[in-house]
Amino acid sequence: MKSTMMRTPLNLSHFLERAGRLFGGQEIVSRMPDKSLHRYTYADFYRRARLLAEALTRAGLQPGDRVATLMWNHYAHFETYFGVIAAGGVLHTLNLRLSPQDIAYIANHAGDRFLIVDDVLLPLLEQFRDEVDFERVIVVPLNGKPVADGMDDYEAFLGTATGDFDYPEMDENDPCAMCYTSGTTGRPKGVVYSHRSQVLHSLVQAMPDAIGISGHDVLLPVVPMFHANAWGVPYTAAMLGVKMVFPGPHLHPDDLLPLLESEKVTLSCGVPTIWLPMAQMIAANPGKWKLQKGLRLTVGGAAVPESMIRAYAQLDIEVLQGWGMTETSPLATLSRITAQQRHLDADARFKVQAMQGYPLPLVDVRGIGDEGEVPWDGKSVGEIQVHGPWITGNYHGVPVSEESFSADGWLRTGDVASIDELGFMKISDRTKDLIKSGGEWISSVDLENAIMGHPSVQEAAVIAVPHPKWSERPLAVIVLKAGQKVGEDEIREYLGKHFVKWMVPDAYAFVESIPRTSTGKFLKTALREQFREWKWDD
Ligand code: AMP
Repeated sequence: MKSTMMRTPLNLSHFLERAGRLFGGQEIVSRMPDKSLHRYTYADFYRRARLLAEALTRAGLQPGDRVATLMWNHYAHFETYFGVIAAGGVLHTLNLRLSPQDIAYIANHAGDRFLIVDDVLLPLLEQFRDEVDFERVIVVPLNGKPVADGMDDYEAFLGTATGDFDYPEMDENDPCAMCYTSGTTGRPKGVVYSHRSQVLHSLVQAMPDAIGISGHDVLLPVVPMFHANAWGVPYTAAMLGVKMVFPGPHLHPDDLLPLLESEKVTLSCGVPTIWLPMAQMIAANPGKWKLQKGLRLTVGGAAVPESMIRAYAQLDIEVLQGWGMTETSPLATLSRITAQQRHLDADARFKVQAMQGYPLPLVDVRGIGDEGEVPWDGKSVGEIQVHGPWITGNYHGVPVSEESFSADGWLRTGDVASIDELGFMKISDRTKDLIKSGGEWISSVDLENAIMGHPSVQEAAVIAVPHPKWSERPLAVIVLKAGQKVGEDEIREYLGKHFVKWMVPDAYAFVESIPRTSTGKFLKTALREQFREWKWDD
């Protein structure tokens, strides 16, 4: 017997059509680099996203071609999220916080054909433009100045379209977007999303038991649109016609709080580094900002401290922790209290909320220890592996390796956690040699190699140390060559030549020797334990 249902492919262009037809009057607000507010509606967004799709097609875009963006969060980036994919292209969001060399590597590896760039980011582009052969560079004139020769003005580019555009035929498994994530050793790795993966992710993300996103919400994504699709919320927003408030490049609480207030934001999302100082500011200035009753913050990308969840609860603001990766589209688990936990008292609830949570529908998780799968007892720890329709099964242009995938095809996350009887994960460690500072990765191995290149250094290990503001910061543990005297300032200056500023460690420990494993590798678990209580300057 065969099902009688239509075989309609899951396609993100449907969300664009839906947004235009059903939600045309809903507002989209963007804070511009000069801090003014740009306002338009979903009707404008729909029209312009389709113009972009048509203009790209007229410019020769073929299905599957990569269109890179180097942009902050604002209306035009939202347009590219749909314009590129409606043309059958693949939106490749470049991470503007990386070094120009890394961005160039990533753009070349992805084979980016077109680039859409904010005019305010042209100085960054200039640092790697010669290294990438973009066929066309399209500049979004946010500051209103004329665009230089040799590049297209985004508005003029949209003007090449007539409004007569038909969506190309697409399969639900066709690629729609891609993002790169840090490799532990070696270069960044690309994850390619499909229409199917992102449609399913949006549907599940919006569920009340997941983030619970409604068309009645006003949503401010602080998470950059170059990070794992801004956690997928632009797709979900268009699906539901959610009023969007984009913060542009202004991510300080001083800028965010007035925007949360004036636009009546009900839901926001970002890494803990954004929210930690904000809680203090609100508590220190009672009544200064009239935030919406029932405001919710979805927080992830790094562990959310219980103290932060409690601080916001005092302010009547709900914090919901999510866990995921670029590889998992990104949402895979969420720590929403379940019906089975309704009897818990307030303290126990905070403990649950400080865990990474239980898997969303369609996602499976397991912990793998030395002896195989660990029991779900809340104590036994293993590496978390995940499986599901929005979890990557390989990396772009890289053979599937044992380090990244299990023999039966589950993604190895490099996060070490216990899982309790109800499926709640609690991350306690990480096998991948990376440091996550303010939501961005720093490679320990790259720093170690650079430090060991200093003529006075015998060996160096770099570890992640908990930090009250940045979640983690790198600490360089250094053994100097006999008779050498070098201070941390010299090492810092030396590293400054090779790394962007925020990646350079602020903390240094000069030691006699570094503990090693039986196979001669640095024993980083011992180092992390030794330096866990590092005292940071204010
Ligand atoms: P990314 O690919 O940049 O999104 O980073 C994914 C990684 O960030 C995960 O593998 C974790 O190591 C870390 N991460 C994300 N969310 C959380 C969380 N809620 N708690 C702890 N670590 C997290």
